[in-house]
Amino acid sequence: MNKQDQPEEFRNIAQELAAKFAPRAAKWDQTQTYCWENINELAESGLMGMTIPTEYGGRSASFYDTVIVVEEVAKACTLSARIVVESNMGGISAIMNYGDDFQKSYCAPIVLAGDKPAICITEPEAGSSANEMRTTARKVSDGYVINGVKHWITGGGVSKLHLIFARVLDEDGEELGIGAFIVHYDAGKQIIPEGFTVVRRENTLGLRGMPEAELRFDGLKVDAKFMLKTPSGPRRGFADLMSAYNSQRVGAGSIAMGVAAGALDHAKRYLRNRHQFGRPLAEFQGLQWMIAEMDASVHASRLLLYEAAKSRGPNGSPFPDILAAARAKLFASETAIKVVSDSLQMFGARGYGDQEPLERMYRDVRMFTIGGGTAQILKTQIGSKLLGIKSPQTRDGYYQMAKSGLLK
Ligand SMILES: Cc1cc2nc3c(=O)[nH]c(=O)nc-3n(C[C@H](O)[C@H](O)[C@H](O)COP(=O)(O)OP(=O)(O)OC[C@H]3O[C@@H](n4cnc5c(N)ncnc54)[C@H](O)[C@@H]3O)c2cc1C
Repeated sequence: MNKQDQPEEFRNIAQELAAKFAPRAAKWDQTQTYCWENINELAESGLMGMTIPTEYGGRSASFYDTVIVVEEVAKACTLSARIVVESNMGGISAIMNYGDDFQKSYCAPIVLAGDKPAICITEPEAGSSANEMRTTARKVSDGYVINGVKHWITGGGVSKLHLIFARVLDEDGEELGIGAFIVHYDAGKQIIPEGFTVVRRENTLGLRGMPEAELRFDGLKVDAKFMLKTPSGPRRGFADLMSAYNSQRVGAGSIAMGVAAGALDHAKRYLRNRHQFGRPLAEFQGLQWMIAEMDASVHASRLLLYEAAKSRGPNGSPFPDILAAARAKLFASETAIKVVSDSLQMFGARGYGDQEPLERMYRDVRMFTIGGGTAQILKTQIGSKLLGIKSPQTRDGYYQMAKSGLLK
């Protein structure tokens, strides 16, 4: 590791970029546009795909380094922070850890040039119960044919790489488990695979620069070389794939924590400058106590995220531990909603209007108890893990497969 790759060096790079991103953040929200300008700067600075191993052109940065970067970027621009996360954690982590040399060599340059892979799991009838997904990938002579619908796919229509999760069927239609396929889509370059349709974009509360899209696959043909081979084989492969998703959860929590830290900074500045009753607001003890509680909870989130980023699951897993990741995302996301709301409160009417970024941050941060595992599902995972219960909601598909007799 050279000097440039120390976490504090990453923080400095991120802070410099964040200073440029802050004045642009409202624009992406108001115009609902994707922040290509920021992405180009992130890619030039080596923060897109920084966790990609050096042999594939990345910087072999750790998840901890990424948390440091994400906090700084999220203080200024939630949208850009999401893009940093998804170019470094989650789908790309699955590809870089389970992919073969061809797959890694194929995907790394696309991400390093500014792509954030889209993860396609959720379906209209399979949200929290992801293992009830209906999309299928049926084996044909030289590959697989995918049919199904995915919705709420972050970056759908702007991402170039899509990691599509589907029930894998053999040529006779027997189900083998849930697998993942890499599909390249680039409307700008007319790379539009037959059978791949971007159906529509959601109109969202926050993070309005990020497309959340419904995608439909009608006989989408994928060459066998683009199927990810997971260590446990197809029957238990969904568990491997979702382990990679633990890193994405740490990333999502880090965005929430960064937005909260940014909102707290705004609030502290405002309390020092705004006068009422002949004094700065900062002198009122009621507000000082709020600041103290906000600071303590943001810092607790930060430490849980650091711990989760450095943790590893069982059996030499390269990904964060499921319990540490769930705990950190749960706490950071719930904390952020409260802290951003309290910061907005400190601005009075001004916080409610769009002269200040608080109203946007308030809308942006709301999603983190929903996307990437709801707060309730995270609590179920934590509780069942702590109590040693095999819960029907466990995400490795155990229940689903046991029910269908596939584990026999
Ligand atoms: C902004 C955003 C971005 C997203 N990006 C992606 C993406 O890129 N890729 C992708 O695949 N998906 C994505 N999602 C989808 C997300 O993963 C799902 O929304 C989430 O898993 C919940 O599914 P659902 O919305 O269908 O809610 P449901 O599963 O229908 O749940 C509805 C409510 O019931 C609760 N609930 C459900 N089951 C239980 C239970 N067993 N116990 C207690 N409570 C329960 C939930 O917590 C929730 O409050 C995104 C969602 C959002 C909002």
